[in-house]
Amino acid sequence: MVVTDSDGLRVAVIGAGPSGFYVAEQLFKEVTASVSVDIYDRLPTPWGLVRSGVAPDHPAIKSVSRVFEKTAADPRFRFYGNVEFGVDLTRADLALHYDAVVYAVGAQADRRLGIPGEDLPGSYAAVDFVAWYNGHPDHPDRQFDLSGKRAVLIGNGNVSIDVARILSSDLATLGGTDIADHALTALRDSAIRQVVVCGRRGPEQAAFTTPELRELGGLPGVRVVAHQQDVGSPTDENPNSSLEILRRHAAEPGEARPREIEFRFLLSPVEVRGAGRVEEVVFDVNELVYDGEAARVKPTGKREVVPCDLLIRSIGYRGVPLPGVPFDESTGRIPNDAGRVLRSGRPAAGEYCTGWVKRGPSGVIGTNRKCATETVGALLADYVEGVFARPANLPREAVDELFDGRGITVVDQAGWLRIDSHERSLGAQASRPRVKLCRYEGLLAQAGVVPDVNHAKRIR
Ligand SMILES: Cc1cc2nc3c(=O)[nH]c(=O)nc-3n(C[C@H](O)[C@H](O)[C@H](O)COP(=O)(O)OP(=O)(O)OC[C@H]3O[C@@H](n4cnc5c(N)ncnc54)[C@H](O)[C@@H]3O)c2cc1C
Repeated sequence: MVVTDSDGLRVAVIGAGPSGFYVAEQLFKEVTASVSVDIYDRLPTPWGLVRSGVAPDHPAIKSVSRVFEKTAADPRFRFYGNVEFGVDLTRADLALHYDAVVYAVGAQADRRLGIPGEDLPGSYAAVDFVAWYNGHPDHPDRQFDLSGKRAVLIGNGNVSIDVARILSSDLATLGGTDIADHALTALRDSAIRQVVVCGRRGPEQAAFTTPELRELGGLPGVRVVAHQQDVGSPTDENPNSSLEILRRHAAEPGEARPREIEFRFLLSPVEVRGAGRVEEVVFDVNELVYDGEAARVKPTGKREVVPCDLLIRSIGYRGVPLPGVPFDESTGRIPNDAGRVLRSGRPAAGEYCTGWVKRGPSGVIGTNRKCATETVGALLADYVEGVFARPANLPREAVDELFDGRGITVVDQAGWLRIDSHERSLGAQASRPRVKLCRYEGLLAQAGVVPDVNHAKRIR
């Protein structure tokens, strides 16, 4: 597509995760003439969950960041790190400087169980635990009590598998990754020896994927335990490969090892109990009821109590509302039609969304590329139609003056590259991919910016 307008097309993207980068990539590909994309992130660092979600022992997955850096090297791209939409920047500001805005803020919160005792000490959201071990700067001082022996993990997705693996991996493995140093220290002292992964539904309905499940069987010093009454035996009809793996573990339990990951199914938590801290979880025991092909769970009326010292709730991520932007509380997403933000049910001129905040927390990183392609398609179609109003005729630099005037300390692409190169060089000295800076102060200092006093107060 050729943009003939001498002013070009100016797009602001809120959120520098995979979805935000895929929007920029797609715009650069589709628009052959003048287009510019400014990506904002509340953190001084880009890449969203690729930096603070993807497990540290999966460096190959993180290598997708090279694709993002290629996009960032395009002269039409600018990074505005350390700028939070809704705090430092409003929708009205964006309307003044950009033709269109794309919200790509992901899903920043956890879905709650909604049961008594959920907030007892010793019970944590996987969202927080994952962010902590990945060095997210909101969490460096969080304490997770790993002094007990048994952890219960609620949820049957890949995030649960990541957490089970991190709690059970040997330190020689984790020590060679970019895991946060504070997490490495805490895991070194961890007394956790058994992780029980509990799912509400059966093994056939579990959301985790086969490679992630298979990997657990290869962890040094870890025995994977499954039970034939839950998963069946290897000679049973075999509908999927995850089930095949679980059946093998059930049929050939192998010898005891220092650590154990146990899979339990058809258990719905109804209460977390303990005198002042988590001691046990009470579950409804379920059965599967088939409605044609679809299976749903039904409580059998029986209960089971599983003692535990640590509880990690991992039943999904959830979007959080952005000030002044429509939000559907029931789905935790921005209401949209193929990426066009809906205000009172109608497409809002020049407002779009993509990624997890558009379609919910599911799919792999690459799913966000397809999602961004759809959103960019809608944006460009609207641009051609003349649907959105052009912003005031301000130079591209005017946005920098806005932040200067407000005393907002921006980390730009050059600042991020300084952080990146510092972390990598610390990593090289320790035979690790990088040693992450886990505090705002350290990140800003390495970026070469001096935080404005008032802005620093707003930075958590
Ligand atoms: C624990 C975990 C492990 C995963 N592992 C894998 C894996 O191994 N392989 C795989 O393919 N996928 C994996 N995923 C999925 C993958 O990370 C997501 O598909 C992807 O990150 C979603 O991209 P996003 O850009 O929509 O959201 P995010 O990655 O969350 O990015 C959103 C960005 O928006 C920023 N932001 C939020 N609010 C604001 C605001 N108000 N102002 C400015 N910026 C804001 C955030 O700081 C963040 O940088 C994993 C996910 C999790 C949670």
